[in-house]
Parts: sequence; structure tokens; C-alpha cells
Amino acid sequence: SLALSEKALKVKPSSTLAITAKAKKLKEKGVDVVGFGAGEPDFDTPINIKDAASDAINSGFTKYTPASGTDELKLAISKKFKEFNGLNYEKNQIVVSNGGKHSLTNIFEAIMNPGDEVIIPAPYWLTYPEIVKLCDGVPVYLYGDKKTGYKITAEQVQDAITPKTKALILNTPSNPTGMIYSEEELKAIADVVVKNDIYVVADEMYEYLIYGDKKHVSIASLGDEIYKRTITCSGVSKSYAMTGWRIGYTGSSVEIAKLMSSIQSHQTSNPCSIAQKAATEAINGCQNTVGEMKKEFDERRKFMSDRIQAMPLVDTLEPEGAFYVFVDCSELIGRSYKERKIESANCIANILIEDYNVAVVPCEDFGFDKHIRLSYAISMKAITKGLDRIEDFLNTLS
Ligand code: PLP
Repeated sequence: SLALSEKALKVKPSSTLAITAKAKKLKEKGVDVVGFGAGEPDFDTPINIKDAASDAINSGFTKYTPASGTDELKLAISKKFKEFNGLNYEKNQIVVSNGGKHSLTNIFEAIMNPGDEVIIPAPYWLTYPEIVKLCDGVPVYLYGDKKTGYKITAEQVQDAITPKTKALILNTPSNPTGMIYSEEELKAIADVVVKNDIYVVADEMYEYLIYGDKKHVSIASLGDEIYKRTITCSGVSKSYAMTGWRIGYTGSSVEIAKLMSSIQSHQTSNPCSIAQKAATEAINGCQNTVGEMKKEFDERRKFMSDRIQAMPLVDTLEPEGAFYVFVDCSELIGRSYKERKIESANCIANILIEDYNVAVVPCEDFGFDKHIRLSYAISMKAITKGLDRIEDFLNTLS
């Protein structure tokens, strides 16, 4: 028959794309739109990294590499894991892939059997449930509370565990909340994970983008037992403004690394040889640009959360990492705007783009339907203009 894959048909197209498409259309018409949707740094890839890529091209480093990445890049990653994360992953425990998203896909392909459950703390990055479902798994959602910085607790994890639970996804710093799990919180969660003998998929993609005196802690660094059960995932996309280069990586047991490497060898072969050279320079080279980017993000973060906290009807916690502000709009739900009832974050996002030329991400697909996400990976000037417009909208309601 010509019937299409039931699994593929179940993949949800992202609602964020609808708003982005509307914003793009308006921009093309010449409308001055402020886009708070950005999921990538607004900085250019640092010049030393670009030069390494040019050198790779000019020296003919343009052929297949080993499927799981070059030794040179794996050594750089291994050193970084040791020095930054306090983790010992040797070369044969590291797999380099085509971006963090691909690394996550490899992980679930390597560990899942049909019907396995994966615990996903909400709000979550919208891709997790879709990857789990594509790997024949069942997402099980746990909801964080504003009082605990939208983070889930060890008790919640324990209560969600069934004989079918295979893994817990833990994303710190979090997209969309910008919150960070402390060592104490992670220790409690690690105890539950070890006791119940499940995996942790630790997505630490934003690990370098942490502000103030907060510190990144990798759950796998908290003891041998949790180390054995964790697959740590990171990449160069967010830390080095390299979203387009598509390099992500994992640290895991040798056994899981072998499985992922063999899956990848059939699905994509190696990640781009040129991008691997660039990523090697990003990790081994001068780190000053990371600090400069972080400083700029930090200023925008404070400015934005202070202003939102001062606005009527909405609220936010000051984010501690990544480059997003997660805005609680529950006070808006049920109010009327131009004879239209505001029913969800999607409505708010539609009003903002249609009447105020501001694009925001409604968080329905992140598991929270009364919240929106604003990215501060845009200029201070644009942030100011966009927040003025949002405030104008809120003033019509209060
Ligand atoms: N994990 C999180 C939490 C993210 O927000 C993203 C990108 O938005 C990724 C992973 C994937 O990053 P990459 O662009 O390297 O695939």
C-alpha cells in the first residue's frame, strides 16, 4: 500500500515555526518586526575557528573521516570533559555527530526498545518527545513548579518510575527556563537513578553560558555509579556561535559509544571533516570570545528580566544560564483582548505578532501552555523596542 509511516505521521510540526514564518512574511513586507524567537547566538563564529576551517579546505582535509569523528577532535573533547566537567571519557567513549540533536537521536536509538518510557521534565526542549517517539518510546512528563525554578525533584522522579522506565532526560542549563540544577539537587536525582537502575541523558548544551556565581555541574561527575548510567551530551553550537557547523558529541560507556558509532556509520557517516577541524580549534583554541559573548548575554539577561518583572500581569524568574527568559503569562489567560478571549500562550503569541510586530515563542510545545519564551540572542536595541511593545499590549489589558 501507499500508506505512510505511522510513526513519521505522528511527529508534531513545531508551533514555533508558524510564528517564525509569520514574522518572516511581515519582514519581507518591510514591517519592523522584533524577533524574540532566536535559538542561536547573534554573534559571528570567532575568526580563529573560521580560519581553522579555511585551512582544512585549503590543505585538502575534505574527505571521509572515521564515522565517529577524528582522533584529534576526540582528544580535544576528552581534555575538555576532564578539565571543565570533571569527567573521564577516553577517546573510545566519545562519539562526534552532526550537532547536538543528532547526538541525542543516536543516544535514544542505542538504548530504546519499543514501549520503553523516558521521563521528560517539563518545561522541556520541544525536540525531546519527538525523538523519543521516533525511537518507539513513550514520553512521561514531570512538571516543574515555579517555586523550585521549574525544576523537578528527586521525589517526582521516583514516583514516575515504572518497570518500563529506561531513562531520564536532564537538561541543565535549561531551554526554555534558563535554570540550573545545583549539585545538591543533582545528587538527590542521581541517587534515585542509581537505585532504580535507569539511564540519565544529560543534555548540557548550554554549559558554558552560565551567569553570576552559579556553576555548571555534570551529573555524571557525582560518582562511579551515576557515571556508568549517564550519557553526557554537548556540542559547539551554542558555546562558540557555531549552530550552522553541526557538531555535537557524547561521552558514554564504551559499549554505548560503539553502538552509536555503528548506527551513525550507516546513517550519516562522519560529521563534516571541515566542521570537525573548526570544532577542534573552538575547543583547543583561545577561549576569550566565549567570555565576551557571555558578558554581553549577561547584561541583556539582567535588563530583560528586570523589565519583565516590573511589567503588569506577567512574571519571570531571573534566568541563570542559556539565553532565554521564560515568562509566566497565566494572569493573562481568560482576559479579553479586542473581544477575543485569551485562551493560551498561542493566542498571546498571535496577538503580539499580528498587532504589535513582536515574535515570541509560545510554550505549548514545551509542555507549558501559559508561558512564552523570549530569547535575548538579539541586540539590546531590539530587546528594548520589543519589550516596549509587549508592555503596550499588557497596558491595554490591565
Ligand atoms: N539541546 C538543547 C537544549 C537545545 O536547545 C538545542 C538547540 O536548540 C540542542 C540540544 C541542539 O543543538 P544543535 O544545534 O547542536 O543540534
